[in-house]
Amino acid sequence: MAAFPQTFTSTVSHWQATNRGPDALYGHGKTDSLPTGVVDYVIIGAGLSGASLAYHLSRPGVCDDKRIVVLEGKDVASGATGRNGGHIAPYSFASLSGFTRPLEAGGSGLTMDDALDIMKMEVRNLDLVTEIVMREKWDVDLWRGEKLEVVDTLEEKEVMDTSYEVWIEALKTRRDVPDWDWVTDEAEANRVSRHPKAIAFSRGKAGSVHSHKLCTAFMKSALASGRVDLFSWCPVQSIDKGPNEGWNVQCHERGVVRANEVIVCTNGYTRNLFKNHPISDHLSPYRGHATQVTPTLPYSGPGALKHTLCIENGPYLIFTPSSGWVFGVGYADIIRQKAGTHDDVMGATDDGIVPEGIKQWLASYCKEEFEGWGEEAPGEGAQRFWSGIQCASRDRLPLVGQVPGSPGLEEAVGVWEPSDPVMT
Ligand SMILES: Cc1cc2nc3c(=O)[nH]c(=O)nc-3n(C[C@H](O)[C@H](O)[C@H](O)COP(=O)(O)OP(=O)(O)OC[C@H]3O[C@@H](n4cnc5c(N)ncnc54)[C@H](O)[C@@H]3O)c2cc1C
Repeated sequence: MAAFPQTFTSTVSHWQATNRGPDALYGHGKTDSLPTGVVDYVIIGAGLSGASLAYHLSRPGVCDDKRIVVLEGKDVASGATGRNGGHIAPYSFASLSGFTRPLEAGGSGLTMDDALDIMKMEVRNLDLVTEIVMREKWDVDLWRGEKLEVVDTLEEKEVMDTSYEVWIEALKTRRDVPDWDWVTDEAEANRVSRHPKAIAFSRGKAGSVHSHKLCTAFMKSALASGRVDLFSWCPVQSIDKGPNEGWNVQCHERGVVRANEVIVCTNGYTRNLFKNHPISDHLSPYRGHATQVTPTLPYSGPGALKHTLCIENGPYLIFTPSSGWVFGVGYADIIRQKAGTHDDVMGATDDGIVPEGIKQWLASYCKEEFEGWGEEAPGEGAQRFWSGIQCASRDRLPLVGQVPGSPGLEEAVGVWEPSDPVMT
């Protein structure tokens, strides 16, 4: 994939465009000299993974007296984090079949118990984000409510019926209680989703957040600890074993940082740092696409949506407090709707474009699919389009922990949607 510095100009997302004030961290440490001694931790990448790691490591009592350096190829949240849908959407029972299917059949090959643990972890993550944002009093547009997974074909309803039954049975063996509803009343599905084709829906806890503001808040709190330094526009070219213990992190013309431990949080860009390494066979970049929509009047004020949505053959969608909706479309729907091709998504590394077919699909969706959407006045409807690079893994699971055989080299990469297909 295209290594840093990139040869294209990235699109600008809604989140990046609406966090441009003096408090944001653009260009932070861009011209500063890199540290000369050996630092304790180097984190590569300042997306949500790297920024939240810097935040957690710099909390009092975690690793006091340790020095942490964050090296970011562009700016904080310039990758997928600043380009996403803003949806904090725990997996529902619909994810279980992907997790439990054997590896050879494109699943994760997990036991049902492990898959249920992942579902629980997803909810804990939502609660943890909420707890941190409330405790720190961050102004990051956090919303808590419910997500609806809206089904509009009988085939998908049958799949969901089965997944729900399997899930309920599995919960019994753990003496656990369901935290998702599965509603098969067509009129109710139509009413709550305002999507005329809806025939059923699942409903569970979810939230949304301004992803660029959240990532910036993590990083600013880390910097405020006095133990973290951030160097923006400092692309890492390679990570080499040092002569003694530790690692040499090569940053092109900016120099070398020596570190006891390196944590790679580069997600969709990870292959660049692991050329000819098995990790590069396990991971693949892929592109996501999204838009910001200003709703028409029937969907504003009292008519505004009350839930976030994931619609079969449609987008996933959140509403923001004051900037309308943000919605994105996944791989499966792009292919099913013939909005784009496999190559528009899988393996794509250029976040400077939104392919025309995908853009048209995003632009027309609300007009065509939401009941009573009405005529769009100039300035209403889809206003801004962008893309971002994510990271697929062969088993649908992230790689978190030590790189095998390389003590002191850790990674947290490969974060993606279980409903998307396994990389090819
Ligand atoms: C269109 C779209 C919609 C999405 N919607 C959602 C959603 O609604 N909800 C959800 O939970 N997830 C969503 N995601 C996925 C989510 O954004 C990612 O899983 C998450 O942001 C990954 O965070 P990260 O920090 O691991 O990676 P990134 O945010 O990609 O951060 C990696 C960072 O590493 C830097 N970097 C890379 N290589 C180097 C290098 N060699 N040297 C220095 N720095 C480097 C990059 O510049 C980047 O800033 C979406 C993604 C996209 C693209």
